[in-house]
Amino acid sequence: MEEKTLSVSAIKQGIVIDHIRAGQALKIVRLMGFSEGKKRVTIGLNLKSKSAGLKDIIKVENYTLSEAEAAQIAIFSPLATVNVIENYKVAKKFQVVLPETIAIVLDCPNQRCITNAERTPTFFIVEENNSQIILRCKYCEKLFSRDEMNEKSL
Ligand SMILES: [Zn+2]
Repeated sequence: MEEKTLSVSAIKQGIVIDHIRAGQALKIVRLMGFSEGKKRVTIGLNLKSKSAGLKDIIKVENYTLSEAEAAQIAIFSPLATVNVIENYKVAKKFQVVLPETIAIVLDCPNQRCITNAERTPTFFIVEENNSQIILRCKYCEKLFSRDEMNEKSL
């Protein structure tokens, strides 16, 4: 408990995204644009987790996370938890929720998809199958595993 309090309380104000699937933090940072602007971001990779082997962690100072952003994180790490930090304390804690659809922020991996040819916004239907997360492109109707997905390059 002591150790946990320390690890999430190191920032005064902001968010700590904890229990991120190991290896996904950098992808999430790019997807969310955490590295843009002058945001102060701390990333921990492959940290020991009591429950699930290794985990990543992201701390963003002076930032609040929208529900839509939390849903985007859920696609890459459905078990992530978000701690809202106020005055060095956890003011609120919640688990991300997998969205039914996701629009715009991800590229369609199918190079022949019309969204790539015409550089139009993407739209995917999110499906969960035997704890595998699959995304179905609304336009080309192809299925992709989440590991094939990359943030929109526009
Ligand atoms: Zn497509």
